[in-house]
Parts: sequence; structure tokens; C-alpha cells
Amino acid sequence: MTGLEPLPGVVLEWGGAHRRDLPWRHTRDPWEVLVAEVMLQRTGADRVSSYWSRFLTRFPTPAACASAPLSEVIVEWTGLGYNRRALNLHRCAVALVERHGGQVPENLEDLLALPGIGAYTARALLVFALERDVGVVDTNVGRVLARWSGESLKPSRAQDLADRSVPNGEGWAWNQALLDLGATICRAGEPDCDRCPLSTDCQWKGSGPDPARGSAQVGGRQSPFEGSDRQGRGRLVDALRQKPVEANLLSEAMGWPREPDRAERVAAGLVADGLAERVGEQYTLPTGGS
Ligand code: SF4
Repeated sequence: MTGLEPLPGVVLEWGGAHRRDLPWRHTRDPWEVLVAEVMLQRTGADRVSSYWSRFLTRFPTPAACASAPLSEVIVEWTGLGYNRRALNLHRCAVALVERHGGQVPENLEDLLALPGIGAYTARALLVFALERDVGVVDTNVGRVLARWSGESLKPSRAQDLADRSVPNGEGWAWNQALLDLGATICRAGEPDCDRCPLSTDCQWKGSGPDPARGSAQVGGRQSPFEGSDRQGRGRLVDALRQKPVEANLLSEAMGWPREPDRAERVAAGLVADGLAERVGEQYTLPTGGS
């Protein structure tokens, strides 16, 4: 198989008829697309919608975000989780102002050099803001490509297939179609092959070992959140959004009243990451960063 080119018309037609109406699909503003993509890195599209609009009302441009204290961006991130993304977005906004006059650059190299922007997000900006004909490979597209091709794909092979499958001039619509296909039809658990526009050409169709398992970008099962260090980190940031936390109340704020050593270790990690500060005997949200 040289590429996945045989069915562009069928996939585009299916994508046009079944496209999920998501608010960031109505804009080509690079900053608005960037904020959506960062939020979507770890949060489902249905939950992101309201947060995305609210965040952009408060920070409508990179300059507005860059000039705000990091603590405000973290507060605005309330409810989304994975707070490191708020830190990365703020750092990215600062870099956009310092290096690019407050604009999002339009080439892959400059995008990849921005803080917190990985291969997927950089390409997503090229496709969804600038309508370039490149492929994006997230967990949904990665799963479709692996099953469609019948191969467990290495990252470079998956990207190559994704790039070569894009029909000329249709990068935006094509990638949205594959994202929707992976999210709604070629699902991780039960692919609905009977309703899939790729079923006549698909090399897997649910028979035998799933080639998507271990394939590029197809995430494995996430470790449990309950009881994890991540849960304690989230609780502490939530508490700091309300007010500073005294060091002697740290383990309670993190939900581990009998594990003060663990609380201190995990809080030290938050401080090292730049998501909290320790000032004397108090923890606070970062005070600098604007
Ligand atoms: S035919 Fe089935 S396995 Fe193949 S791409 Fe479609 S939903 Fe996925």
C-alpha cells in the first residue's frame, strides 16, 4: 500500500454529512485554533466548548494572555484539569509576543520551536487555521490509519500516510473527517464498521488482533486518577485558586492528611514545574510570569 488515497470522495462526503458542529471549526483565527488544540490535548471536545469561549473572552489575543499574570491564566483554566497546559499556553503566548510580534507563525519549524507545541498541535495549526494540505495524527486519526492500513504504524510511517492521504486542497475537511471518524465510528472499543465509509477498503474491519494497539499516537489505557499524585496536584492547584495554603495544612489540602511526606514531595514537583510557589510558610499560585 503506497498511501490511503483510494477513497477521498467517500470520506469527504461522509465528513461533510456527519461533521460535529464544534465552535472552533467556525474560526480560522490561529490563536483561537491554538487555544482549542491545547485544551483538546487532554479533554474531550464536548467539555472543551464552553471553556474555550470563556478563555477567549478573557484572553482574545496572544498579547492579552502574555500580559496577564500566570496565576490569572491558571484561574481561567479552572475545571479543565492538566494545569500544566495553562502554564504552557501562557509561555507560548509570551514567546509569540517576544519572537513573532504577537502573531502565530505560519511555518512548521517556528511553530515547533514554541513552548508546549508538539508535532500534532503544530500541524493542527497549519491545517485548521491555515488550511494547508498536511495530515494530523492524534489518537483518533492514528487508530483509523492503523486499522485502515492493517499495520501497527511507527510515528514516521503514520505521519507519512496521513500526509499522503490528504486530497489536494481539502486538508481542512479531510482531517476533520478523519478526526470525526475516529471519535464516532472507528472507536477504541467497538468500531462500527457497518457504518464506516472506509469499510470496503479497510484492511482490518475488526477481524483478528487490532493493528491500532501500540500504533503511533494510539494511547494505552490511562493509569487511574483516583489516589494518584496527579489527583493531589490538582487538589492543591484548586485550593490555591481560592487562597494561599499554609505549609502545615498542605497534606490536608491535597487530600492526604496522613501522608505529609508525599504531599511535600508532590508540592515540590508543582513548584519545580512553575505551577506553584512557596513563599515562607505558604504555597501560592505563581506570582510572576507576566
Ligand atoms: S472499517 Fe471498521 S476498523 Fe476499518 S476504519 Fe472503518 S470502523 Fe475502523
